[in-house]
Amino acid sequence: MNYYKESKEFAKKYVAPYSKRSDEEGKFPCESFEEMGKAGYFKLLIPEEMGGLGKSAVEHQQAVLAFAEENPTAGLCYMMHNVALMTVLNYGNEELKKKIVSDIVNDNKFLALAYSEFGTGTHFYIPEVKVSKEDGKFVFNGTKSMVTSATHASYYLILTPSTETEDGINNWIVPLESEGLEFIMEHWKGIGMKGNVSCPMKMTNVKLDEVNRIGEDSSGVNQVFETVAPYFILGLAAVYTGLNLKLSRVTNEYAEKRVYPSGQNLTNIETVQIHLSKIYRNALASKALTELAARSFVDGEADAVAKIIAARIEAIENSVESSTLAMRVGGGKTYNQQSEIQRLMRDAYAGQIMAPSVDVLTVWLGKAITGQPLL
Ligand SMILES: Cc1cc2nc3c(=O)[nH]c(=O)nc-3n(C[C@H](O)[C@H](O)[C@H](O)COP(=O)(O)OP(=O)(O)OC[C@H]3O[C@@H](n4cnc5c(N)ncnc54)[C@H](O)[C@@H]3O)c2cc1C
Repeated sequence: MNYYKESKEFAKKYVAPYSKRSDEEGKFPCESFEEMGKAGYFKLLIPEEMGGLGKSAVEHQQAVLAFAEENPTAGLCYMMHNVALMTVLNYGNEELKKKIVSDIVNDNKFLALAYSEFGTGTHFYIPEVKVSKEDGKFVFNGTKSMVTSATHASYYLILTPSTETEDGINNWIVPLESEGLEFIMEHWKGIGMKGNVSCPMKMTNVKLDEVNRIGEDSSGVNQVFETVAPYFILGLAAVYTGLNLKLSRVTNEYAEKRVYPSGQNLTNIETVQIHLSKIYRNALASKALTELAARSFVDGEADAVAKIIAARIEAIENSVESSTLAMRVGGGKTYNQQSEIQRLMRDAYAGQIMAPSVDVLTVWLGKAITGQPLL
């Protein structure tokens, strides 16, 4: 069985049952994550010799897509774990790698990304939190604005200015139990992706050892563009492909069940057939491009990142277009929250604004395919 099919079977059993509640109650899908840990999904990208499954960006894309097809929130939180983990695996020092790999492999712990700030927003690569050096420790003060999986993840990957070099940036790993770390849960009022619980993370004199810094001082920018960005943007393409596929399925089912007193249902109406056809084509186009982009990255093609960016933009723009059409098919009953379509529409809107936003990425893609620097 291929990895996508295997992940889909898992998702039907352990992701689908908690999907509705994660939206209605804005609750992190803890049960799904517990099962993901037991089934080995957190160690997907850890090399076999370190106790992991030794899989690649292709399986990352397949697992995220399969989870998102049942619950987009679960796919989104899961993919962020893989992004943070890959940064540790590719650039972390041996001590940090050993500790985090052991916590994942032996205790099913998982990671999250805490990059964005209120000030620089979608331009997360310009962090403003304060870092200073005191008695051999690094001291952190400031707030990260929207942190998915807040309080549930055991480690948070943050981006900060360098203490040594002007304009240099660094990735650090902050453990959940760090003194001075707090999450302002009541701030999260997202209209979609509600189970993400993406709230601010405040650091007040949080002290970390140098071992928690990933790589040499000021090496953060390379890490962001070589690892964080491809895995994150591909992950988002997979999340929104899953959402597109779910939207197509849910809208078809709704249209079949909506029967008029005449006995005709919505699928018998030509305009509705045209909308359902477009939603289906949008989903398949997103899937094809996302799979192509993942394969291209693993094969090391020169234009792999351009393909990944294109896949994310398409998947997200398709999901927004399709959810508009689906809402039309869904009528007043859907507007009155009697079908899942309205939830998927709310989830779709989040994709456009997650950093770097679809607008920023569209400009970057134009630059990338004409050989210009992105920034
Ligand atoms: C559901 C959800 C989960 C999230 N989870 C996380 C997380 O886990 N970790 C994390 O670090 N962050 C997370 N974020 C935050 C996200 O990545 C963005 O950083 C945040 O949404 C930016 O918000 P803002 O209001 O400051 O946007 P702004 O920076 O004010 O941007 C607003 C809009 O302006 C436009 N814009 C701005 N600059 C340009 C430009 N140069 N070119 C073209 N258009 C531009 C874009 O359309 C952009 O969407 C999450 C966001 C959402 C919605």
